[in-house]
Amino acid sequence: MEHFSLNILGASSAIPLANRSPTAQFLSMADHYFLIDCGEGTQVKLRQHNIGLSRIEHILISHLHGDHFYGLVPLLSSLSLLERQKPIYIYGPPALEEGINQIMALSNSRLNFPLHFHPTDPNKKALIFESDRIEVFSFPLSHSIDCTGFYFKEKLGPRKIIKAAIDGLNLSVPELRALKQGKNLKGANGEVLLNENFTLPPLEPFSYAFCSDTQLIKHLHRYFQNTDLLYHEATFTEEFRNLATRTKHSTTKDAAHSANLTATKNLLIGHFSVRYKNFKQLLIEAQEDFEATYIAKEGFVYTMKRKSRNLEFSRIVTVPEEE
Ligand SMILES: [Zn+2]
Ligand SMILES: [Zn+2]
Repeated sequence: MEHFSLNILGASSAIPLANRSPTAQFLSMADHYFLIDCGEGTQVKLRQHNIGLSRIEHILISHLHGDHFYGLVPLLSSLSLLERQKPIYIYGPPALEEGINQIMALSNSRLNFPLHFHPTDPNKKALIFESDRIEVFSFPLSHSIDCTGFYFKEKLGPRKIIKAAIDGLNLSVPELRALKQGKNLKGANGEVLLNENFTLPPLEPFSYAFCSDTQLIKHLHRYFQNTDLLYHEATFTEEFRNLATRTKHSTTKDAAHSANLTATKNLLIGHFSVRYKNFKQLLIEAQEDFEATYIAKEGFVYTMKRKSRNLEFSRIVTVPEEE
């Protein structure tokens, strides 16, 4: 599938404003859908982006600060009211499971679909989901409480058969499968049919890394490298470096440093402090050190094409510019 898209549902920190929502992203990649973090109001944002709630399969929660998960139980509750039957898979800090159960019990309600909870490990990189198309990992971040990032890596797909080249060969299904796997075939007279004459290489897989709340991690490249896109928080401009250190958040320069360190192609920054009325200075500072930096703008969808890997974006929802 020629597809990578990331809807920014919320990219602000701490307190929701009229035009700013806490962290939530909807990722569509390798035929799967992932909701990444779920700040307050996420289900409303999903509707504004025209994303049907039934599409959600996997929900990943980075940490248990309210601006990253206070929208989760209301979303689950709505899914239940909508009579969802398909299971939901949630990945997050171990205490989250009990938290969900307690709130459901308080409101004397229960979910009518299966909820499969997968606790994340705050201390090491771990595979949390795998299909034939993609692998998803959690990895440790460095914040004031346990926090993990997430790394999504498509698997290398099959080789593409050149239809004109196999015309008249009458290949069987196992032979076609072998070609897709890169194997050579044997011709009618025992001659070797070289794979490269009948197939094209597979498309380069997409990769995406999400670094939620964190201070700078000097060994981040041990968790992932050469990603097409890195989302990294940049709560503050350099002017507030001391505050960033105290609250274990990143500045614009930290985010740019992480992008260089991991040799990412594109950097998306977000989780901005509500003190910033616009994002100009944040963008200028990050771009000084990493040119392909973009602002994670709420109400926008970010896409990439396989060939260029350049980040493209378009507006989905109109949000007021200022309070
Ligand atoms: Zn936060
Ligand atoms: Zn936090």
